[in-house]
Amino acid sequence: MTDLHRLSIRELTEGLANAKFSSRELTEHYLKRIEKVDAQVKSYVTVTAEQALAQADAADALRQAGGAGVLTGVPIAHKDIFCTQGIKTTAGSKMLDNFISPYDATVVAKGKAAGLVTLGKVNMDEFAMGSTSESSYFGATKNPWALDHVPGGSSGGSAAVVAADLAPFATGTDTGGSIRQPASFCGLTGLKPTYGRVSRYGIIAYASSLDQAGPMARSAEDCAYLMNVMAGHDAKDSTSMDKDVDDYVANLNGTSVKGLRIGIPKQYFNVEGLDADVKARVEESLKKLEEMGATLVEIDLNMTEAYVPTYYLIAPAEASSNLSRYDGVRYGYRCEEPKDLLDLYKRSRSEGFGAEVQRRILIGTYALSAGYYDAYYVKAQKVRRLIQQDFLKAFESVDVIAAPSAPTTAYRIGANLSPVEMYLGDIYTIAVNLAGLPAINAPVGFDKDNLPVGLQLIGNYWSESQLLSVVHQYQQATDWHTKRAAIAEENA
Ligand code: GLN
Repeated sequence: MTDLHRLSIRELTEGLANAKFSSRELTEHYLKRIEKVDAQVKSYVTVTAEQALAQADAADALRQAGGAGVLTGVPIAHKDIFCTQGIKTTAGSKMLDNFISPYDATVVAKGKAAGLVTLGKVNMDEFAMGSTSESSYFGATKNPWALDHVPGGSSGGSAAVVAADLAPFATGTDTGGSIRQPASFCGLTGLKPTYGRVSRYGIIAYASSLDQAGPMARSAEDCAYLMNVMAGHDAKDSTSMDKDVDDYVANLNGTSVKGLRIGIPKQYFNVEGLDADVKARVEESLKKLEEMGATLVEIDLNMTEAYVPTYYLIAPAEASSNLSRYDGVRYGYRCEEPKDLLDLYKRSRSEGFGAEVQRRILIGTYALSAGYYDAYYVKAQKVRRLIQQDFLKAFESVDVIAAPSAPTTAYRIGANLSPVEMYLGDIYTIAVNLAGLPAINAPVGFDKDNLPVGLQLIGNYWSESQLLSVVHQYQQATDWHTKRAAIAEENA
């Protein structure tokens, strides 16, 4: 079997169930591809070959014994932000380059319980702060579609491994777009669930009121399989919701596109900096959905201008608080020969954190400091509520809201955008996190340089099934999600 990496998750589950191939064969196949191809893509921070083969053998034995679940023996890659017992978890930072977690994140534990085989941990922007994956201490990951371009971020490694066929699917996290934007840049499907749908336990925290984990894969169907594993209440995360979980795979045809009301926010399509090709591809995809029976409804989202300033106060404020734990004392990087305690704190943090992380800690600390707290942090919280209300009002007249996932396609590596330019690139994704809503990216074509373009659909709370279903039906009627980067073709 030379083309195991071409199979969808459903085909993998069927192949394993029908003994067409074993988990060991499948896992070895992926490990070989990683060895051959990843030197070019640089998506893995850690490859856990030995453990993966042991898990694969255990999966095969379980299947022999009749105890296999649907996904038993299917390989996966985890973003290096999920704690993995006994395996390094770096969050892309020098600060955690030596960190081995004593426990598994709930998402990782659920994956193990479902029989998934962990191929390794993949690259990301440092502490998930960024949109290019270039801020990783371990260097930039390449976009499989064009190796001199970024895969997006912060879950850039997760997107690159799937787009280069170095894992069949991957976990990501999304605080302000980090699943949807890299999925968009790499031509993948990626779902950011409702806040509280997936446990955050054991995920290295960035901004706790915004962080949420989700699946990244080739198709809505592949994502649905992973959502079935990831979703659910967890007593270890008090913000996870004790609410029944859908069977996302069974529901893939559950929502009718006929009669679906898709809101088109006026403000979103007049954003300065929206690339003409991105706009055209997104509009074509909406036309296609219209042909399939959906109704396009123009809506107002009046708070659009407030998204970037609000997010870039709240996210850094929470980050400055979350990252205060890295003090050089308990775990993580410690500077050499500190003079005294203050020197230990100062140098461990300034040597251990990269520039973007330090910038956010400074902004966040400032916004939270006495005297500025009301003017910045409290005000941002109030605006956050207005942004949420804006969405809720829109959902009174539409079922889902359409937008690009990003105003542009992938940037060149080293494009060196100013922080403000980079933050403006998050315009279409961050409001969803501020409101806690679910949203999905689906590939809908390419720009003039053959770089993928993504459509984002935003749903009301707990509408993950609906989003996956709509995208699934779109993908039954189109073939953008089946296109592969040359690097995935060449090395087949
Ligand atoms: N690009 C955004 C930021 O830098 C979002 C990152 C994320 O979702 N983790 O904060």
